[in-house]
Amino acid sequence: MGTLYIVPTPIGNLEDITLRALRILKSVMLIAAEDTRTSGVLLKHYEIETPLTSYHEHNKHSKLDELLEALEIGDVALISDAGTPGISDPGYELVCAAIAQGHRIEPLPGANAALVALVGSGLPTDSFIYLGFLPKKASARRQLLQSLQGERRTLVAYESPNRLCDTLDDIQAVLGQRAVCVARELTKLYEEFQRGDVKTVLAHYRDNPPKGEITLVIGGAPEPAIWDEAQVRAALQQRLNAGEGLSQAAKAIAAESGWKKKAVYNLGLEQS
Ligand code: SAM
Repeated sequence: MGTLYIVPTPIGNLEDITLRALRILKSVMLIAAEDTRTSGVLLKHYEIETPLTSYHEHNKHSKLDELLEALEIGDVALISDAGTPGISDPGYELVCAAIAQGHRIEPLPGANAALVALVGSGLPTDSFIYLGFLPKKASARRQLLQSLQGERRTLVAYESPNRLCDTLDDIQAVLGQRAVCVARELTKLYEEFQRGDVKTVLAHYRDNPPKGEITLVIGGAPEPAIWDEAQVRAALQQRLNAGEGLSQAAKAIAAESGWKKKAVYNLGLEQS
């Protein structure tokens, strides 16, 4: 029974590969690569002569049997064009199939654009959501953003340079003046972080159309301001006067005010 190694490769700077990754790539029987020509450059640089086979978006199902057969004989390493396989790159299906066949999976830590962008963004890193590539169609993109309007966690997404301004425009329209960070060409010669509110960053890229690879980090929804007692009482009065039941009114006000529903309800009991 062979082991399937999931091996991250650099996202730009060829030095960003671990000693362990190089050792594994040299010692396995076969490397499954998203694009054998792209990976050939990296492997040549590190004088790795392990046989390569292709495993990409369009053959990921037809190639499964071949790779599972290879795993019966020896160890296989999976690499993508850049970064961590399985993260907006092929890998998931192979990992599932290999697990189902009882193979050992050994994922190696390493380069990943989303994490590098997040930790350099200056936006909260304690909790975040990885969105992968944002939808290309404006309507689907806006719909996704709408579903995230109340989300407090930092959002991380991959975006193409051609759509960046449209996407920033959508963020402004749907999420409001959020803090964002555009991380461009990470680890490369022209690495750039543009940090600021959406309006400022959008204006920058309207004047300087971006090129290269982009990861977008978006600050989460701000904590709602907590109302004072007079505001809660006024809102209660308004809803009760309009004929709303106390329980329903308390629930609605709690959602807006930052108060607990029970506390709003108790104020309502005093008022009625
Ligand atoms: N598996 C990869 C990873 O772990 O980062 C991601 C692969 S995905 C097909 C490629 C996208 O990742 C690019 O279109 C871009 O949005 C982002 N990306 C990759 N390299 C980047 C870099 N050097 N700087 C900024 N974003 C990058």
